[in-house]
Amino acid sequence: MKWKEQLLSLAPYKPGRPIESVKKEYGLEKVVKLASNENPFGTSPKVVAALQSALSSFAIYPDGYATTLRTAVAEFLKMDEEQLIFGNGADNLIQIISRAFLEPGKNTVMASPSFSQYKHNAIIDGAEIREIPLIDGEHDLDAMLEAIDENTAVVWVCSPNNPTGVYITKEKITSFLNKVPKETVVVIDDAYHDYVVADDFYDAVEFVNEYNNLIVLRTFSKIYGIASLRVGYGVAHQDIIRVLEPAREPFNVNTLGQIAAVAALNDQGYVNECRRKNREGMAQFEQFCAEHQLHYFPSQANFILIDFGTSGDEVFQYLLQKGYIVRSGNALGYTTSVRVTVGSEEENNGVIDAMKQYLQEVSVSKN
Ligand SMILES: *Cc1c(COP(=O)(O)O)cnc(C)c1O
Repeated sequence: MKWKEQLLSLAPYKPGRPIESVKKEYGLEKVVKLASNENPFGTSPKVVAALQSALSSFAIYPDGYATTLRTAVAEFLKMDEEQLIFGNGADNLIQIISRAFLEPGKNTVMASPSFSQYKHNAIIDGAEIREIPLIDGEHDLDAMLEAIDENTAVVWVCSPNNPTGVYITKEKITSFLNKVPKETVVVIDDAYHDYVVADDFYDAVEFVNEYNNLIVLRTFSKIYGIASLRVGYGVAHQDIIRVLEPAREPFNVNTLGQIAAVAALNDQGYVNECRRKNREGMAQFEQFCAEHQLHYFPSQANFILIDFGTSGDEVFQYLLQKGYIVRSGNALGYTTSVRVTVGSEEENNGVIDAMKQYLQEVSVSKN
């Protein structure tokens, strides 16, 4: 068959293991998933209530323009409705952007390691990929600028970066945006911005009115707690949105997702509470790392990348049979680390205890 050559060597995305399959394999009653940076406190009760009252009309296609959600997000951000595009998760928007801008002869610049989907989509669309190594978990924005040339269509910036959790300061990102050529699109993946508490962080949406070549991506999958319903959005100048729109599937955001996202947006009290509890949970992990002299990147997101100095796969496997699903750093570009989503206080204590047992067993077997 006449496949695109690049698809033949591409592996599908490997998601965190489902809870049920881990329970079965290891005969565990309780399994905690701290692998995909979902909200450990679940979905806001107000969102659940909105969904319950919406369980009807499944025969009707969703609103392809996401009108109600669009109005809610535009008001929330104080932006025009024409500055928004909605996606079946932010993943879908990454795909749309890639499809709209990337092709053979074009190139795309990104940090490495960073979120896998920038590269994955760029490969499928046949663009040249320029990966710029992180420095101490942070984007090397100067080197990224140097990598840009007249054929660079898209630059991806993930801040806080997945998988390191390191963010970019306002000063650094504005200096970067000022230097990127106007013909090159910058995508700021803002998936974790709601978790950031650092004083020198920025509001990426504010930049959209200043930089006509900027797309900001956000998601309802993380702090808003509706990952299963798949809703994300992009914010950009009207001229970008207008050209992107035809690359979007007509009914890409489902009805329940739209209803849930509006209710989630309207419950900022829940978001604030989750942000606060996330910092408390992060402190539990930081303390554990300090006690055991394990390296980690200071994270402003809802996950932490911890270096055990041994095989990340081995740590992953150990924690798995104890009932904790984390991500091995091996698949994320950090072979000796694991990435752990910050959970509830109890979940954090549980996974930290399991990590302590691991460290003890390793040191016993070494002696
Ligand atoms: C989780 C995540 C996404 C994808 O979010 P969805 O809206 O669930 O598709 C995008 N970017 C980053 C950096 C993420 O961590």
